[in-house]
Amino acid sequence: MGKAPRRQEHLRARREMIRYETAEAEEVGRRVDALVPNWRARAAKATQQMAAQQKFSGDGPSWSDVKPVYMRFQHNKCIFCERPLAGEVAGKVEQDVEHFRPKNALKPWPPKQPKGQPAPYVFGTGAAGAGYYWLAYELTNYAASCKPCNSTRKANYFPIASGNRGGAGQDVAALNAGEQPFLPYPLGTVDVDPETLIAFDGIVAKPIAADGPDHRRALVTIDFFGLNTREELWADRFRTISDLWTKLELIETSSDARRVETATRGVEDVLSDAAPQASCARSFYRLYKSDPIAAYDTYLVAERFWRSKLRPAES
Ligand SMILES: [Zn+2]
Repeated sequence: MGKAPRRQEHLRARREMIRYETAEAEEVGRRVDALVPNWRARAAKATQQMAAQQKFSGDGPSWSDVKPVYMRFQHNKCIFCERPLAGEVAGKVEQDVEHFRPKNALKPWPPKQPKGQPAPYVFGTGAAGAGYYWLAYELTNYAASCKPCNSTRKANYFPIASGNRGGAGQDVAALNAGEQPFLPYPLGTVDVDPETLIAFDGIVAKPIAADGPDHRRALVTIDFFGLNTREELWADRFRTISDLWTKLELIETSSDARRVETATRGVEDVLSDAAPQASCARSFYRLYKSDPIAAYDTYLVAERFWRSKLRPAES
C-alpha cells in the first residue's frame, strides 16, 4: 500500500503570545453591552470624575463583571503566556482582568539591580510615572491573564522605549505612538501581531528580529513574563510539541486513511487560536514542514530537557 497523502498542507502556520484579531474595540464594547448593559455608562461617568480629580478612583463598575468577555476572546488562555486556564465555570477565580497600562503609580522596570551587577539592557526601558488612571475603565486597556503573569510580573510596571510617558487623556493609539511600549497588546489590531516578534525554537521563546526595535520588544517581553524560566510553561510547551510530533509522524507514516484523517483534525486543533501554546505549536509545525530532520532534532533536545526536569535523579 502506498504512503498516505499529505493532508495538512492547507493548515495555517504562522509564527508565545498570539493575537486575537476579532477583539477590536467595537466588538469588545458590543459584547460588554450584551453582558452588562449599563457597564459602559458607569465607566464613562467614573472616567469623567477621575479626569476632574486627575487621579484614579475605584468608584466605577466592577472589572470582574466584564471578565468573561475577555476569557471568551482568548479561549480561556492567559493573554501573555498562553497557558490554559479554567473556563466559564471556575475561570473567574483563576483569571485576572489585567490593566495593560497600570492605573496606579508606575515603578521602573527592571527593578534596580543589586550593587555591582551590570544593567540588564544597554537601552532605556522607561522611568517611574503617575500611572494611567484615565484608562482604568477603558475596555481596550484590558485583557484576561493568569496570576503569575499579572500579579507577580506585570504588577505596576509598563516598560517603554521612549523617554516620555504619555499625558492624561491620551488614547491608546496616541500613547502607543509616543511611548513605544515594549510589551505587545494582543487584542484587536491596535498593536503588531506578537507572532511577528516572538517565535519558538522547540520550547524556548526567541526574538524573530536579529536586532532593532522588534528584537528589543521581544527580548523585554520574554524577560518580563519569564517566558523561558517558568516550569509550567516548559511543561505546557513540551506537551504541545510532543502531541504535535506524534500526530505529524502518524500522518506521514500511516497507511490507514481514517487514522490519518483523525490525526489531521488533531493537528488542526493543536495549531488553532483556541489551543494552549499555539504560537509554540505553529513554530514547530513550520519547522517540521520545512525541515523534518531539524524538527526531529529540536524535538529530541526539548525531550531531553524536559526529562531532566521531570526526573532529575536520572539525568
Ligand atoms: Zn500567564
